[in-house]
Amino acid sequence: MMDLHTLLPELVPKAVAWAEVQSERILRCGVSLTPHGIALARGVGVYRPELVRVELVPQLPLPDDPLLQQVALAAGLLGPDMVGLTLGYGIFIVQGHANDRLVSHELRHVHQYETFGSISGFMPVYLAQIAEFGYEAAPLERDAREHEAHAV
Ligand SMILES: [Zn+2]
Repeated sequence: MMDLHTLLPELVPKAVAWAEVQSERILRCGVSLTPHGIALARGVGVYRPELVRVELVPQLPLPDDPLLQQVALAAGLLGPDMVGLTLGYGIFIVQGHANDRLVSHELRHVHQYETFGSISGFMPVYLAQIAEFGYEAAPLERDAREHEAHAV
């Protein structure tokens, strides 16, 4: 696999720009959380659940930028197996996968964005973790997994 560390300085600004555009799209086109979704959000520490929007999509969008696209696929961030993506207060969910476990996972990422203050605050840390630990073991992913709601 390509050396993500050396690519980060070039990658991070591109990822932030892409994420901000996608996030704005979700905030325009997505739907607010239901009362149940708001309860899930509060349960994983989201401070402003009323700002969250969810857009159901046939598949997650891929960046046009060749480097960004290549890295996102190689790192396992995007691609056919991925069914959720959180960008600030915007959450993409692939149609047919909107269950409490996935939504609570993505909502925990919203909490993380809130903690970092913005997409441009979150993304450099997140991508550096992906480069260092890989997707599965990245601390921000582990944290999101640990906050997943389990079906009762
Ligand atoms: Zn995640």
